[in-house]
Amino acid sequence: MSVRFSLTAGLFTNNEISDETKLAVEKAIEEANTTLFRKGVPRGVDVTEVGQITGFHISKNSIELNFESGTYTRAHDALFRFKKHVAPVLGTYRLGIRGIDVKKFHITMAGVPDGVRIPNLPFIKSHTLADGELTLDLKVTSADLENKVPDRILNLIEEKIQATNYGGKGEHWELVFASAQKPRSFTRDPTEEMVKRNWIRHGASRGQWIHGPQSVQLFRAFEQIVLERIIRPLGFAEMIFPKLTPWEVWMRSGHAKGVYPEIYYVCTPKTRDPVFWEDVGDYYKVTGIVPVEMIREKIDGPIGGLCYAQCPSFWPFVQGETLGTASLPVKVFDRSGTSHRYESGGIHGIERVDEFHRIEIVWLGTAEQTVDMADKLHDAYHQVFEEILELEWRCARVTPWFMAQEGMVDTGKTPQTVEGGACGCGERVGTTDYEAYLPYSDSWLEFQNVSINGDKYPKGFNVKIQSNEPCWSGCSGVGLERWTAAFLAQKGLDSDGWPDMVKQLVGEPEEIFRFM
Ligand code: ATP
Ligand code: ZN
Ligand code: MG
Repeated sequence: MSVRFSLTAGLFTNNEISDETKLAVEKAIEEANTTLFRKGVPRGVDVTEVGQITGFHISKNSIELNFESGTYTRAHDALFRFKKHVAPVLGTYRLGIRGIDVKKFHITMAGVPDGVRIPNLPFIKSHTLADGELTLDLKVTSADLENKVPDRILNLIEEKIQATNYGGKGEHWELVFASAQKPRSFTRDPTEEMVKRNWIRHGASRGQWIHGPQSVQLFRAFEQIVLERIIRPLGFAEMIFPKLTPWEVWMRSGHAKGVYPEIYYVCTPKTRDPVFWEDVGDYYKVTGIVPVEMIREKIDGPIGGLCYAQCPSFWPFVQGETLGTASLPVKVFDRSGTSHRYESGGIHGIERVDEFHRIEIVWLGTAEQTVDMADKLHDAYHQVFEEILELEWRCARVTPWFMAQEGMVDTGKTPQTVEGGACGCGERVGTTDYEAYLPYSDSWLEFQNVSINGDKYPKGFNVKIQSNEPCWSGCSGVGLERWTAAFLAQKGLDSDGWPDMVKQLVGEPEEIFRFM
């Protein structure tokens, strides 16, 4: 795709520019155009692609410059290079640069398809799109230029173009393994059956259930199986990951790029002074209504949201550290609390809820160690589903969860190549979903996954390993609601039809409520 940058900016000096200085500046411009801007540009690149100063005007105390470029020594990079180059020249005449005023910044892109969603950002004053040519008129300061805002806008638009091209293709899905078909004797919706038996009841909040003792007995039995058959034998240690995730963590994990429609946001009081809050309580006391608008004015934030993906909030524990070779691979897990997602409508069953319970397994080490651990987990899960739960299940390579959650487009290619893939591990980066057959709806339910996340998290949280090899990580999320939904959908609610180990672990159902 051809891209052109066009920039007009003024460099302000702290004193008047003399005629003699003017000549020196003109010489500096000449040098910049002929040598400075060409530095680092590969041979053979068309000169029109390389940044140039195409015009200038020197007045009392400003040097106004026009820059044009393609994608090499982009106009804004040329500006800063020139500033650095001309500063010592001005210095010899006892002049300093006081500031930069960006007067005009245009980006033109060719080959932009109709229907691309042009971002609505304060940096974009206006845009036109005609005959596949997109022109952006930017409103940026020199600080924005230093912060590479134009380059990021360009990347963003390229992403949106991909979204337009691949949008309809849906997520990647490629079968890896399918179990044999299992007897399909039970065909009812497990959630409805659980409700009928008072194993669960709707919570007061959206997509939330209150799990009665019988449901929890099942959850705990599944947890026990995961602990005894997977977590302990493979040597994972239990940790407690925080369940309130601040923006800082999601900025590093990548979730800040796209998870907004599904977040449960968290706000804090502007102050905890009881006098500041007195009105709110008083209003409620006399009306019986909680004054939400009044509260909105008394809170700060959101400062982040409730746990969404579970593993990101582990990473500050190792952030900025170098891990000793002997400690690798690090293997931990968390089952300390709920995850929350504002799911799309039609949430009936326990399998798609706004508040759910998940065991999250996380490991990190070299690329080889990370891939090896994923393979061990796959083997262990395989055994559990075949020999203990006797499920009808399958697994498939899918769009990596982190790409999906960053709102990235799956073009079918392996996700961005990652460092350390020398062993062929690079091919393995991505997510494998485990799915169970649901006889009642003749569909498949994703009930857990295993992901090799490459160097994404170690990079985001600046974690290194002693050997200086690239650090990789993986994670696996075991959804207890989803396990329960899958198991009951296939085996029914009567323990007579359950495999022995599950029957034993669950024990006699605890019937403690008698509703009259
Ligand atoms: P889906 O496509 O079904 O929404 P997902 O791709 O959003 O699932 P992940 O983000 O990969 O799911 O989450 C990992 C695991 O967390 C899932 O395999 C599942 O066990 C569990 N999970 C995710 N969302 C929910 C939910 N809304 N209710 C219950 N469990 C969930
Ligand atoms: Zn994870
Ligand atoms: Mg989802």
